[in-house]
Amino acid sequence: MGKRWTIGEINEFVEKNSESKLLSTEYRGFSQKLLFTCSCGNHFEKTFTKFKNKNQRKCDVCQPPRPSR
Ligand SMILES: [Zn+2]
Repeated sequence: MGKRWTIGEINEFVEKNSESKLLSTEYRGFSQKLLFTCSCGNHFEKTFTKFKNKNQRKCDVCQPPRPSR
């Protein structure tokens, strides 16, 4: 199984791997949506799984969701 992330580690990951900023101060599990600020200033919510594994690291305006198949 995957590693257990702490909010601090997630914050570090977000800083290193995206232009977005993490606003959430608590992480309760992979299904929880975290709040981010995009580099454009928009706020958006995303689970860390999507952020990290599916490369969804910006808001829906900067990175429109692709239709899934
Ligand atoms: Zn944006």
